[in-house]
Amino acid sequence: KGTLMQGKKGLIMGVANDRSIAWAIASAVAAQGGEMAFTYQGEALGKRVRPLAESVGASLVLPCDVTDDAGIDEVFTRLEKEWGQIDFVVHAIGWADKQFLRGRYVDTPRDAFLTAMDISCYSFTAVAQRAARIMKKGGSLLTLSYLGAERVMPHYNVMGVAKAALEASVRYMAADLGKDAIRVNAISAGPVKTLAASGIGDFRYILKWNQYNAPLERNVALEEVGGAGLYMLSDLSGGVTGEVHHVDSGYHIVGMKNPAAPDI
Ligand code: NAD
Repeated sequence: KGTLMQGKKGLIMGVANDRSIAWAIASAVAAQGGEMAFTYQGEALGKRVRPLAESVGASLVLPCDVTDDAGIDEVFTRLEKEWGQIDFVVHAIGWADKQFLRGRYVDTPRDAFLTAMDISCYSFTAVAQRAARIMKKGGSLLTLSYLGAERVMPHYNVMGVAKAALEASVRYMAADLGKDAIRVNAISAGPVKTLAASGIGDFRYILKWNQYNAPLERNVALEEVGGAGLYMLSDLSGGVTGEVHHVDSGYHIVGMKNPAAPDI
């Protein structure tokens, strides 16, 4: 067992099951001696999250729907009571009505847009506000993004727009919180098969496309996203803030289809 996270305490938000990116990061943190609390969205997921959290010795496992400010307040009040201060938060949460994760972005109605923005972008700001108050020795805030924020990906639509706003919010919050030694970063992960990903139209095609056209000629493993998460939360990334770090087998640098790739 490593010691990179020894003495650090933090919150992991967004575990739905053992395929969740949040869980991959939590596993990496646990292996380095970090202490964690977890939140889950609704009791149905709570049943899955609780045993996972217990398997890494979590002291607190709390419900939290990020559309509810009072609920977020309660989580951070509990954390302060339990620990006095925290060192890190992982926000691995996103949602849009899957009816609009296919077809044309231009057809997105106002309510679907606002909900996607609220859950997938604003919630990180809402969490950061409260987390910063109890990061008494500085800290690291981490969220998850996708290349669809920067470039047009088929079907990603309103999530791409929300992720673009999320990435901008990472930069603004990094500037706001830097003087308190709080770092704010995002990992832009390549496609991985999770519950959230299953809502995206033609996801299997996207996986294949990335596999054939990424410089590493494969998709990323969950554990690799977990490892990058660990780096962002630990002192190894002490000089890094406001960054959107791609963990995508290098796909983001590619300008054209790999001519050697087979047809999909
Ligand atoms: P996941 O389904 O395992 O996790 C998504 C989480 O969001 C779930 O735990 C869900 O409960 C939570 N959530 C949704 N609405 C919520 C709400 N209102 N309140 C509280 N929690 C809520 O899928 P994942 O792929 O691990 O997703 C984690 C993050 O990674 C998301 O931000 C996603 O956009 C991002 N991401 C995923 C991929 C991918 O290919 N899977 C790629 C890049 C970025």
